[in-house]
Amino acid sequence: MAYKQDGYTVTRNVCPRNCYDTCGMLTYVRNGKMEKISGDPAHGYTAGKLCAKGYSYIRRVYSPDRLRYPMRQLGRGTGRWERLTWEQALDIISDKILALKSQFGSTLPICLNKYSGNFGILHYAVEGLFNSLGSTTQAIGSPCWSAGLDAQHYDMGQNANSDPAELEKAQVIVLWGVNPAWTAVHSLPYIYKARQRGAQVIVIDPIFTETARKADCYVQIKPGEDGALAVVLAKRLVQKGYADKHFLAEFTKGWEEYLAYLETADIVSLAEQTGQTEEVIDLLAEKIGGSKSVFFWVGFGLQRHVNGGQNLRAINALGAVAGCLGTSGGGVHYAQQRTWGFNFCFLNSPEGNRKVSINSFAEELAAMKDPPVQFLWIACRNLITQDANRTLLLKQLDNIDCIVTVEHFLTPTARYSDIVLPATTHFEEFDIVPSYWHHWIGLNEPAIAPWFDAKSDLEIAQMLAIALNKKCPGSSNFPADKTPSELLDREFNDEFYRMLGITHWRELMDGPRRADIPHIAWEDGKYSTSSGKFEFLSRKALSNNKSALPLHKPGAKPCEQYPFWFITSHAQHSLNSQFDIPDWLYKSGSEPVVHIHPDAAQRRGIRSGKRVRIYNSFGSVVLPALVTSDTPPDALVCYQGSQSGRLFLNQLNPGLLSDMGEICTGTKGLAFYDIFVNIEAAADSV
Ligand code: SF4
Repeated sequence: MAYKQDGYTVTRNVCPRNCYDTCGMLTYVRNGKMEKISGDPAHGYTAGKLCAKGYSYIRRVYSPDRLRYPMRQLGRGTGRWERLTWEQALDIISDKILALKSQFGSTLPICLNKYSGNFGILHYAVEGLFNSLGSTTQAIGSPCWSAGLDAQHYDMGQNANSDPAELEKAQVIVLWGVNPAWTAVHSLPYIYKARQRGAQVIVIDPIFTETARKADCYVQIKPGEDGALAVVLAKRLVQKGYADKHFLAEFTKGWEEYLAYLETADIVSLAEQTGQTEEVIDLLAEKIGGSKSVFFWVGFGLQRHVNGGQNLRAINALGAVAGCLGTSGGGVHYAQQRTWGFNFCFLNSPEGNRKVSINSFAEELAAMKDPPVQFLWIACRNLITQDANRTLLLKQLDNIDCIVTVEHFLTPTARYSDIVLPATTHFEEFDIVPSYWHHWIGLNEPAIAPWFDAKSDLEIAQMLAIALNKKCPGSSNFPADKTPSELLDREFNDEFYRMLGITHWRELMDGPRRADIPHIAWEDGKYSTSSGKFEFLSRKALSNNKSALPLHKPGAKPCEQYPFWFITSHAQHSLNSQFDIPDWLYKSGSEPVVHIHPDAAQRRGIRSGKRVRIYNSFGSVVLPALVTSDTPPDALVCYQGSQSGRLFLNQLNPGLLSDMGEICTGTKGLAFYDIFVNIEAAADSV
């Protein structure tokens, strides 16, 4: 509960923006204005600290660029905006919805595209509003973690991880496709403590990241060949006598079949595919095989390939062969959903909702004729920057009669809308936010009054439901009269309360709680698969037309015409495009740059600072080069964010899909890192 300290009113908040750390925050308000923020020391994982993005929030909340009022664009894309009252905005929107319903005799032309700009539970009110209207068209799935979630599901039956504090107890930490020095800073103290105790830190990544600089050992792997490396290492562990026979016999299913596969695997050629020598393989096998406390942290990078899910399954198998699953300081960790035990009432969808994959949104919309989508509501997303195949997306958006975007700023997507509605930030609303990495849950209280006319997704949903019902009674059964507290009451159940050790969610006002789930995932050896064991051989995978075993699947490869991977990795000061708008973080920086290896740069006469054109058959972007050996010779790297709507990296993205994701998210993930391009000096810089 808010309390007084040194003249401030202090509230508890939670950073809700799809980040590993989901930090507990304290917000200090004086005279109605946020003056400072800090980490909440009561949060056991984030422990009183924030990252630079978190500390920049005050600038974001009070940015002069922030949207203040509902606005209508006088001609989409013209940039001529007219201020509206909420009444006017809701009048226009409700008229449009009811007119489409009458014209088509259905609410299917009405479409929602929402994702993870705010992971608060009450933000699912947007889905709740659409579900209250009847059968609508809704984007489903995730552009991010889908393939990896399914991989864990096939092998272990559930997405569970050990408490990240277990990192501290590891003897070997393998950071595989993850860069916590930039994207999960709160894990670093645990990693440092482990190192002080003598732990070895190994980073496996195509890019020599900030985390790699801090490691004991760095392996520059070829993009998408993570599965090959895992297979080779598993075979080496067996050959060197490191396979954990007890674990394999007692706690796994399909080991004999997987062993038979490993026997056929050609170490030399697979190692070559990964870009490693046998000497490196031996070194890694010795480090991994020589310890039971090997903590594999598999990031969201390596599953962003067409073979991403299978890559992760191969790493799971490696962990099983090493016998590190279920051990203190060990295991293979990707993400967890055990602390997401809410009732998710807003997600009860009516029969007949039309589902569109969020990752093939434009393609599927183009094919949707009966009836076509004519109204699009966008919330918690910036799809024009983040979606693949931008050219088709824009064409498809042009076919839609009315686009409404709920936002904090005039993002590229908002600028492409007919109506924008100003959203509150998490400092102006009530909510509860869980994490997909650590095991803590915190309550988010409003610290300040809403910025000008900004409203929360929940309030907007309630107001629109009222407006619709006023014009046409029975249009929406959304709980428009319920307070946020009453709606949170609906989200909890006895089991979840037991897990949190509370009897009512209001107790979270006294500080975040750690859910009572095992500190060590799978310590009891009871997996959530149908066999109750770790499954090398997954019948479920087979029934979903996947390989039953975690065999190595070759990934997509560059070709002669487009010889470079184009990796659009997460930046230090941004989460996708989310922290783009406040220029404060980028004052010292200039334009975004593309990183290119010195050999590749030399062959093309490219020098740092010179403008280059990156292109493929989907489009091109022009930006300055930065020559650096941190980038592999066959890849170009451009960090997401810091683009401020000037550069659309995903227009080069063909939208290839990863191999898994249907089980946990309803649709396959996006192979974000299987983009192939060429590069040349830009005409004006030769
Ligand atoms: S962006 Fe992540 S690390 Fe930074 S404050 Fe938010 S949750 Fe914490």
